[in-house]
Amino acid sequence: MSFDYDLFVIGGGSGGVRAARWAAMAGAKVGLCEEFRYGGTCVIRGCVPKKLMVFASSFSEAAEDAEGFGWTMSARNFDWKAFIDKKDREIDRLEAVYSRNLESSGVSIFRERGVVKGPNSVELASGETVSAGHILIATGGYAFAPDVPGIEHVITSNEIFHLDEQPKRMLIVGGGYIACEFAGIMNGLGTEVTQFYRGAQILRGFDDEVRGHIAEEMRKKGINLHVGRDVVSIEKKEAGLVVKCTDGTFSEYDQILYATGRKPNTSGLGLEDVGVKLDRNGAVEVDKFSQTAVPSIYAVGDVTDRVNLTPVAIREGMAFAETVFRDNPTPADHELIPTAVFTQPEIGTIGLTQEEARESHDIEIYRSTFRPMFHAFADRDQRMLMKLIVDKPTQKILGAHIVGPAAGEMIQMVGIAVKMGATKQDFDNTMAVHPTAAEELVTMR
Ligand code: FAD
Ligand code: NDP
Repeated sequence: MSFDYDLFVIGGGSGGVRAARWAAMAGAKVGLCEEFRYGGTCVIRGCVPKKLMVFASSFSEAAEDAEGFGWTMSARNFDWKAFIDKKDREIDRLEAVYSRNLESSGVSIFRERGVVKGPNSVELASGETVSAGHILIATGGYAFAPDVPGIEHVITSNEIFHLDEQPKRMLIVGGGYIACEFAGIMNGLGTEVTQFYRGAQILRGFDDEVRGHIAEEMRKKGINLHVGRDVVSIEKKEAGLVVKCTDGTFSEYDQILYATGRKPNTSGLGLEDVGVKLDRNGAVEVDKFSQTAVPSIYAVGDVTDRVNLTPVAIREGMAFAETVFRDNPTPADHELIPTAVFTQPEIGTIGLTQEEARESHDIEIYRSTFRPMFHAFADRDQRMLMKLIVDKPTQKILGAHIVGPAAGEMIQMVGIAVKMGATKQDFDNTMAVHPTAAEELVTMR
């Protein structure tokens, strides 16, 4: 049977773009449709603009610290509009790079929505129907906000990148990656930040000690973090958005950011009509090769709700293309994924938490908290946490957790060692790099 394409990809984000290019580079005839902007969540309204905001926000502390080192800093003001305009130009540039790379790899691109019409058929918004030997669903996720009265007045992470003005007072609801990252960003930029998290401690799923440590550091920086507190209702009044909280109190803000999770983007895609199975959350169910219940249809990235990170979507996309177009069956590998939360200070983590490890292993814990030399000299009250979880009988490192400056950079390197099966002895045998904060990782006894 002949098709218009060997592969047709729906979604031009991290996973879809990588899969399309990898398959095209293997000689497949590939088409891809994107309904919004090439680059997807990560490039357009996720990792990239977020990290630029983290950089922007870090200068307020850097300026204070510079004074601790003897500098006299002149008046400091942040120009929100100038930053947003420059950030938008950078995102435009990156988007153009993404579509150019697709085209130069030989992928035919369509700037429109696609829906699945059959095991080998996709209908585009223009009305055109294309056929393909394989279809890849890479439609990502969307920001979810619960249905509380007045929810229409709030923003999500999509909008925060485009506000005309920097809010003076902001409420952030949620205790996950996005809420904690934006609490740090907006606080660093000079907004008065309040954060509500419904549970007992932010960043559920991370190591308990890491959660406690980062919560304390965030509070020290001036974030009004309240745990065990949620929003009952929101009312728009002249003076601002008035929030009624679960403890019966009222408070007022200029903007409210809901960062209460993301859900897979499967609605209206036609998947169930052709036999693709979705879970209760709407995520596409796939096997280890990212194949759905319909053999010609695969899915990668956030739409499968496995591990919702850009490098994971990229790897799943590559593994799919290796399996289907390069005759090299490659399961998506979700073991030992290093990750960073760009809070201030950052968190870098890989492997098991102490709580998880305790359930399945006989463990030893090595930990160190200290004030890094930089902060001690600058007189900043900020402490670093490093922690290694070690399997007692084999001495294998089961987990590594870092909170502090450059934790994201460090965990990338620690990740290689842990993925290779490093033991505590291997860490101990590695010569320290002095004077650094990272040397603590090889000197903990
Ligand atoms: P996406 O990148 O979301 O791409 C899906 C694409 O499909 C979108 O462009 C969408 O417009 C398109 N689409 C959807 N439906 C259709 C359709 N029917 N037809 C055509 N096109 C369609 N991850 C990290 O690793 N590090 C970070 O620092 C980080 N920061 C983040 C910050 C924020 C604020 C957010 C929201 C996410 C962040 N993430 C981060 C997560 C990361 O962005 C996602 O895991 C990643 O983008 C998932 O890639 P994907 O290809 O699955 O989906
Ligand atoms: P998360 O799932 O990380 O966090 C969602 C938060 O919202 C949790 O604290 C959750 O609480 C809370 N929540 C959920 N539902 C409600 C509700 N109805 N009312 C009140 N609170 C609620 O999602 P995010 O939106 O922060 O981020 C989505 C994903 O994007 C992340 O999980 C991550 O995979 C990815 N990401 C990665 C980043 C990185 O790599 N640095 C940065 C940003 C995003 P509870 O814990 O009680 O369920």
